[in-house]
Amino acid sequence: MGRIVITAALCLGLAACTQPEPEAQAPGIVSSQSIPAAMQGVQAKQLFGAQGQGSEHAPAAYGSYANGCIAGAVALPETGPTWQAMRLSRNRNWGHPETIDLLQDLSRKAAAQPGWNGIYVGDISQPRGGPMLSGHRSHQMGLDADIWLRPADNLTLDRTARENISSISMRRANGAYINGNWTRAHHEIVKAAAQDPRTARIFIFPGAKTQMCKEETGDRAWLRKVRPWWGHHYHFHVRLNCPDNAKGCVEQAAPPPGDGCAEAEQWVRNILNPPPPDPDAPPPKPRRELTMEDLPRQCVAVLQDQ
Ligand SMILES: [Zn+2]
Repeated sequence: MGRIVITAALCLGLAACTQPEPEAQAPGIVSSQSIPAAMQGVQAKQLFGAQGQGSEHAPAAYGSYANGCIAGAVALPETGPTWQAMRLSRNRNWGHPETIDLLQDLSRKAAAQPGWNGIYVGDISQPRGGPMLSGHRSHQMGLDADIWLRPADNLTLDRTARENISSISMRRANGAYINGNWTRAHHEIVKAAAQDPRTARIFIFPGAKTQMCKEETGDRAWLRKVRPWWGHHYHFHVRLNCPDNAKGCVEQAAPPPGDGCAEAEQWVRNILNPPPPDPDAPPPKPRRELTMEDLPRQCVAVLQDQ
């Protein structure tokens, strides 16, 4: 009797008790697949790199950003009113539907900036995600996307132009500072991407982060999501959270609290004045190629769908 009273009291205090259960997710793929012989001992990037289309499953991201795959990915249309997908020959304009929505929303915000008619979108994921034959370690779950820092002023580029045109570097002094190509519009577009609740993190070179730290006079909460990283001076990288109720999608730990500006300053100091190498540091481990044994088992079914 006592317990019933306590439960009822808790429910009065907690909105969750009175709200309907979140809508059940599509059942998803079972995680108990065995790995067929043809997939054993093969580099997973060969298997995923050979897929030309998304799978027919309900959309679901399985695994983690650098060890996973995506079921039911959709393609970002090659050209939209406020975007173009670049390097079409790579066939990496596939992502989780939430990623595609975020990119389209962001492209409309970018189009409102002076000199920008939208965005040029670089790699998202392969049609079924997974490791790639070249480039990225992440981008495996359809929840990472690269956005060019070159203003998308011309949205009528043909296929050939989209293979050949280059983005533009925004950095000076190895990424310690921005160069003259960086504008306030870049700040506003990165800010819009960071303020999207679907975004977990943004990666960009340290000099861009410290610049935005200096220039932001309003709300600074979004800066927490903007993380300094190597490279990322031709494009910035948007990483989405796992979609709500996603089973089998492993989040990265949230960024540390605060705006992260002091950490970015430390990156800059280390670029300008690199610390001496640690003589006791272990030699870097050579990276092993992922096989299907390493990936979540649902990825077997994602590959098998014909
Ligand atoms: Zn990226």
